[in-house]
Amino acid sequence: MQRFLTFWKSVYEHWTRRSNEDLHLGFMSANLMTIDPTLTAPHDSLLVVDDNETIRDVLCLHLRRKGYRVITAQDGRRALELMGKEDFDLVLLDIEMPEMNGLEVLQRIRQRYSATELPVVMVTAKSLSEEIVDALELGANDYVTKPIDFPVALARIRTLLSHKRAKEALRESEERYALAVLGANDGLWDWDLKADKLYYSPRWKSMLGYKENEIGNGPSEWFNRIHPEDIERVKTDLASHLKQMTPHYENEHRMLHKDGAYRWMLSRGIGVRGSDGKATRMAGSQTDITEGKVADALTGLPNRVLFMDRLGHAMERAKYSENHLFAVFFLDLDRFKVVNDSLAHLMGDQLLIATARRLKACLHSADTVARLGGDEFTILLEEIKQVSDATRLAERIQKELAMPFNLHGHEVFTTASIGIALSEPSYKRPEDLLRNADTAMYRAKALGKARYEVFDTAMRDRAIARLQLENDLRRAVERQEFRVHYQVIVSLATGQICGFEALVRWDHPTRGLVYPAEFIPVAEETGLIIPIGQWVLQEACRQTKQWQERYPDLPLMVCVNFSSKQFMQPGLVNQINQVLEETGLNASSLKLELTESLIMDNAESSCALLQQLKELDIRLGIDDFGTGYSSLSYLHYFPIDTLKIDRSFIKRIGVDEENSEIVRTIITLAHNLGVDVIAEGVETAQQLARLQELKCEYGQGYFFSHPAVGEVAEALIRMRQQWKMGQKAS
Ligand code: C2E
Ligand code: MG
Ligand code: MG
Repeated sequence: MQRFLTFWKSVYEHWTRRSNEDLHLGFMSANLMTIDPTLTAPHDSLLVVDDNETIRDVLCLHLRRKGYRVITAQDGRRALELMGKEDFDLVLLDIEMPEMNGLEVLQRIRQRYSATELPVVMVTAKSLSEEIVDALELGANDYVTKPIDFPVALARIRTLLSHKRAKEALRESEERYALAVLGANDGLWDWDLKADKLYYSPRWKSMLGYKENEIGNGPSEWFNRIHPEDIERVKTDLASHLKQMTPHYENEHRMLHKDGAYRWMLSRGIGVRGSDGKATRMAGSQTDITEGKVADALTGLPNRVLFMDRLGHAMERAKYSENHLFAVFFLDLDRFKVVNDSLAHLMGDQLLIATARRLKACLHSADTVARLGGDEFTILLEEIKQVSDATRLAERIQKELAMPFNLHGHEVFTTASIGIALSEPSYKRPEDLLRNADTAMYRAKALGKARYEVFDTAMRDRAIARLQLENDLRRAVERQEFRVHYQVIVSLATGQICGFEALVRWDHPTRGLVYPAEFIPVAEETGLIIPIGQWVLQEACRQTKQWQERYPDLPLMVCVNFSSKQFMQPGLVNQINQVLEETGLNASSLKLELTESLIMDNAESSCALLQQLKELDIRLGIDDFGTGYSSLSYLHYFPIDTLKIDRSFIKRIGVDEENSEIVRTIITLAHNLGVDVIAEGVETAQQLARLQELKCEYGQGYFFSHPAVGEVAEALIRMRQQWKMGQKAS
């Protein structure tokens, strides 16, 4: 054990130095046994025992001059008495004394103190080798002969005292070290590489649930308990250290506990090398880091690691009992980002913590709720009888979460979309169940959020189709399979073309034209919208500039759609500016179409961005106006030129009066704000007539023209196509 501790100290030092954790353990340097004069404290106290008064006095004088504290005794009895009363650091003991001779006194001293605890230097009149030998055998540390050669005597005394100090310091540090080991709760291992034997400390064993005698001393006791997925990494890391490729060995791996669960361990060690550099021994520690590995720091809930582990266990159990049904919930807060951005991140954190609390309150203790990250939570609902048990819980959760949260005086509302996947014997891996719950959650979002969906195979098919689409889309970007179609925008005052909206299409190699509704959402999510959007902008500007040059009498402009990812990309203003410069198009001929929600969701940042674009003289329009949730009163904060009324309102003109009323209100509002209006989706002469009546400036829709390839659109310009207002033109 002693050897082990000493070795351990150097291991420990290595790490504390490395990690800069100054634990103030005061370990001494490695060459403990060389004499360091500073180790003899000047106030060491010495006991001089001699029956000869002159010798006592002379010794006293010399020693005191060197700074020692000296007490004298004229015989052995008095000396032992004094030792009982106070502590001495060294005894100078005369051998020949009348009452009790020095050897006898020495014997008594050694009964009480070891040679390191209290060194004794014998003083003898002549070189009586026999007596000296006896004294050394009885435990004397050294001797001096009379007449005393003082420099020699002092040197010997100093040496003994520094040995004593060094030993004391060593003992203290070892005790402290032993305490540190206990305190650190680490298990220790010491591997004799030659004999291939491993010492495991009792703590190492108890960390894994075993008693001292239940684990032997072979490496297999360790390696056979490592999780199969981790074993290779452990071996590689050990080998790299043994080959001197790393300064120390360190690895995090799972170890099988006696209770059947895996626990995460941080294992560290260093090798001891011979002069040839080959390691003969390696020792290290094992720390249980399961807690940090499995808990989400913000909410204290289990994290993905622990959740997957529990899910794996649930699947294991289900294998053995047919009726074992359980469910996995994937829950995502709707519009969490809005709370997070508008009320600061601290509030977002508070909302997540409060959500975690409510979720926990909805569940039994056997169930697990975990946070995967962001605003995503998962639930493992154990032992349900039927599907309705799961859906009932989903309803309950939704009700609980719908109640307002009070966060530092702010009332915050949130809803959640939940996907549910039910256990089935066909599932092989926990990841598959979780993925399907996630797919169902996406479906719930797509169907309008604040709802739950139970996973079914149709969803899987859709998910697969979506994945296919994603892959195809990536390829389409590389192969430049996109085209821009142009739809005319007509002045309702003159019936003349005043510009176009650029609408992207995907010329799919096997499917033909694919429309944006199908691929823009996927492009948004994958980020592919950035290169696609950039290309559309470039192409639309190039084409418009060409038409302007060919038909200089027509004031043509172009509207280009921007989605939120595009809008939020860094360096957007410069990019647009660069396109304008490259194509030579006037900034005022370009109008960006943004949606209400895009602007409102990022109100603050978008306001600044819009201002920058405005400064370049680029025009800005709000698309699909009326379908968002924004309040009309916010509009005047944004430097907008145009409102585009959504076609759902235009469609119902003449069908129900209420909608005409909304259209009228929007147009009035826009005009009050100094903003002009485009009516989208104009399909009939009746709609057109009504819009004219309401003084709507522009119209766009199948009534005038479908979106068309550049050549067809150009034909309309070339013909100076003009629609007679109020009836279908020739
Ligand atoms: P949007 O910007 O509102 O575009 C108008 C949509 O309405 C177009 O659909 C257009 O073909 C259609 N439309 C025009 N007139 C009529 C009509 O009289 N009746 C009906 N029923 N529909 C009409 P499209 O081309 O399928 O585009 C759909 C959406 O895709 C666009 O809606 C726009 O939000 C988005 N989009 C299109 N191109 C791009 C693009 O280059 N970038 C981005 N980010 N989004 C784009
Ligand atoms: Mg548009
Ligand atoms: Mg629109």
